Amino acid sequence: MRMAVAVASRATCRRRKVGSVLVQNGSVRGTGYNGAPAGVPDCLEVDCMTDEQGRCSRAIHAEINLILQTTPSERENATVFVTDRPCWECGKALANSGIRRIVYLRPHGRNLDRLQAMLAAKEIALEHYMPQLSVDLEPVMDPTATERVDQPANSNNS
Ligand SMILES: [Zn+2]
Ligand SMILES: [Zn+2]
Repeated sequence: MRMAVAVASRATCRRRKVGSVLVQNGSVRGTGYNGAPAGVPDCLEVDCMTDEQGRCSRAIHAEINLILQTTPSERENATVFVTDRPCWECGKALANSGIRRIVYLRPHGRNLDRLQAMLAAKEIALEHYMPQLSVDLEPVMDPTATERVDQPANSNNS
């Protein structure tokens, strides 16, 4: 998760900086941060592209960039560490990306209930990162460790 936070520092949106890291079998397979498509002026250069809800629509989200920059085999049964809980659109993309676990640092966005329901249907774990449980990052990155926390969404939801 520290690496996701470091990746987020590269984000180019003024409103929010998000970083994500793909970990498979204890190895980092890729990273992503939110920003405008390559070669297009970003929020730092031309300010945010704010919509009616006050959200910036210029940036490709960190999770989508992560998917764009990794292969299906790299994502198979992998874990995504992301600084912010995925939005609905990214949640849908992650649900179809082959990953099995999402660990986020900051609660963010609405529609948590439907996000949890969709991920549970796909048997993808959604976990709120708790730093006190992962002083040693090795167990966190062990894919077998997901088995004991496979369905956290259901217990948190009711
Ligand atoms: Zn922006
Ligand atoms: Zn998103």
